[in-house]
Amino acid sequence: MEYWQTLLRESIESKDQLVERFGIKPEVAERLNEFFQTRINPYYLSLIRYPGDPIWLQAVPDELELSDIDAPEDPLNEDAMSPVPSITHRYPDRVLFLVTSQCSMYCRFCTRKRKVGDSSKISMKYIQEGLDYIAAHPEVRDVILSGGDPLTLTDFMLEKILKGLREIPHVEIIRLGTKIPCVLPQRVTPQLCDMIKKYHPIYVNTHFNHPWECTPEAKLACEMLADAGCPVGNQMVLMKGVNDDAMVVKELMQKLLAMRVRPYYIYQADITKGANHFRTPVKTGLEIMDKLRGWTSGLAIPHYVIDAPGGGGKIPLQPNYVISHDENTWVLRNYKYDIYNYPDVVEEQKPEPPKRRKPIRAPRKKKVFAKQKDAI
Ligand SMILES: *Cc1c(COP(=O)(O)O)cnc(C)c1O
Ligand code: SF4
Repeated sequence: MEYWQTLLRESIESKDQLVERFGIKPEVAERLNEFFQTRINPYYLSLIRYPGDPIWLQAVPDELELSDIDAPEDPLNEDAMSPVPSITHRYPDRVLFLVTSQCSMYCRFCTRKRKVGDSSKISMKYIQEGLDYIAAHPEVRDVILSGGDPLTLTDFMLEKILKGLREIPHVEIIRLGTKIPCVLPQRVTPQLCDMIKKYHPIYVNTHFNHPWECTPEAKLACEMLADAGCPVGNQMVLMKGVNDDAMVVKELMQKLLAMRVRPYYIYQADITKGANHFRTPVKTGLEIMDKLRGWTSGLAIPHYVIDAPGGGGKIPLQPNYVISHDENTWVLRNYKYDIYNYPDVVEEQKPEPPKRRKPIRAPRKKKVFAKQKDAI
């Protein structure tokens, strides 16, 4: 058994452990475990500095999770966009491919917290159905492996999936959506990297939420993936009490860049049963963006997005930099709220194009290829 598998085995999961380690009332712990998975592996547990700190909040179950047990179940409407159970096909050219329901930690804020950990949900049959769906849909050029966490699979299983995808000629890029570099960096082994290398282009999107997660172990995992040729991006979820503070976010983004990870998205926390106590006002997200742009490297600045309830997809928001504009001038403000006038290019009004006359003779037929036809 590999070291990371040993660590996983030593995770805190049971009701009794919750009571013992965190002082949760037995009846509350029982109800929490009835609705949601718990798993805190020894590595992530070791990052906790004091009760209620930003690491604790992400990992340790809380009675608050039970307070909204009647909230909507599937706010992103992912099920409606699932042609087969393992695929979410919401955008024209890319799909989310759910290859496992397991995670190396069960995050308290997870959008899929009612689904993760249920191993009945994903089997080899579901994976094969997903591969078949992608093979039958030539418009899919980008496949995002997700779950659960695809890096909880064994190298053998993951390689089977990557190989299967690479047999489909229209799949251009593969992305791994994984929290492993943050929550169980020991999983990123030289063998895993050597295997991944064979299936490029592979992009990795990982998931750090707080600067305390940027440990030497996490840095090594990200560097190994980068050395294996994977561009590594980060998707942060904005959460009350964890990272709803511009200074914390800025520090995280700078630390990520130093680990060769490029900030990609900041997500507004989704409306999710058992996780709504993490939600922050939209204004908070906009203020954070305002305090990043201009104040630190442009490379450190992700897109702030809201995943629209009802299945609308990710919608980007940014602070307003336009004070006013007319035909000639845009009045803009910079990051320090200094105001500048930008003289716009005024294009001359073009005269109406003359009406085309009907051709006198039918034009000679020319043989064209389908692609050219579209361009004409
Ligand atoms: C986020 C997401 C994607 C990927 O979106 P990008 O903006 O390309 O990163 C694809 N499919 C689904 C269902 C998603 O939620
Ligand atoms: S690792 Fe991802 S899928 Fe798993 S519980 Fe955390 S947020 Fe959810």
